[in-house]
Amino acid sequence: MTFAPIPRTELGFWPTPIEPMARLGAQLGLKHLWVKRDDQTGLACGGNKVRKLELLMGRALAEGCDAVITAGAAQSNHCRQTAAAAARLGLACHLLLGGDEPARATGNLLLDRLLGATVHWSGPQRKGERLEGLAEELRAAGLRPMVIPYGGSNATGAAAFALAMEELDRQQRAAGVRFEAVVVASSSGGTQAGMVVGARALGMDCQIIGVAVDKEDLRGPVPMDARLASLANEAGALLGVEVELAPHELRVDGQRAEPGYGVITDAEREAVAMTARAEGLLLDPVYSGRAMAHLISLAREGALDPEAPILFWHTGGAPALFHYGDGLILDHAQRGE
Ligand SMILES: *Cc1c(COP(=O)(O)O)cnc(C)c1O
Repeated sequence: MTFAPIPRTELGFWPTPIEPMARLGAQLGLKHLWVKRDDQTGLACGGNKVRKLELLMGRALAEGCDAVITAGAAQSNHCRQTAAAAARLGLACHLLLGGDEPARATGNLLLDRLLGATVHWSGPQRKGERLEGLAEELRAAGLRPMVIPYGGSNATGAAAFALAMEELDRQQRAAGVRFEAVVVASSSGGTQAGMVVGARALGMDCQIIGVAVDKEDLRGPVPMDARLASLANEAGALLGVEVELAPHELRVDGQRAEPGYGVITDAEREAVAMTARAEGLLLDPVYSGRAMAHLISLAREGALDPEAPILFWHTGGAPALFHYGDGLILDHAQRGE
């Protein structure tokens, strides 16, 4: 099985490593818990969006664009990685960020500023509702912008994660393991959708457990599994694979999303602290920490086979740690030390 070629521009370090998390696994009663290090994709603190951006920017360059526009929350990792990719390629970058300008630029927003992106504040809208309007303004000003949707999740962005499954398949063969499940944070959905269509196309018998992190993603006009199935099928079409996925084939666990996007609870604090202290590995509180909190609760409920090889796909996001600061410390007595 080979995927049809898609224009691509190199931005990251590949393959990202896979490694066992023996100490964390032992604490959770899982004999073969591993991690895929997409927090180490190489560009400006890394993260999963670098994979998508290699294809999205490949298209922007092929189409002769001189600017990109995208959108997200003020602490968006996607926006920070897009700003870095644009800087690297000499394109202008405009970001539509939710909320109002804060008094201080911290975490990812600080990095957006250092990377030279132009930031537009969009109040309550943080999912790109004004992208087309901004594109019109930039065209009127003589630029040739490409609009990258919220999270980089169109067919092109999602296709990158089908290719990532090819990378994983090579790695698991070399390591002599076969992952039965992948646990990954899911929001705009391109990551999970691409993984599911890639796994199917490659004949990998591996369940992708998407952990919803944003309850608004679950309450849209189209159910999240149906939205992801369409995205997976569009990515499959782009890659020339004959796969047709139905919504029930995309597993999205929604329980963790309830507190709201970016709202940190003790479950995320515990997941971040446990992983840091057992493995020396930094998660972020909004995405990977929430996904790990879900993995921890599945393990404690006995919902994961203790003997099965399980892969936690680390999607990055650690710059947000420095935005949330000591509010992340589980043991409140340690604050302010
Ligand atoms: C964007 C992001 C995700 C979610 O990926 P989607 O493709 O939007 O579902 C997960 N983790 C981190 C750290 C992210 O920045």
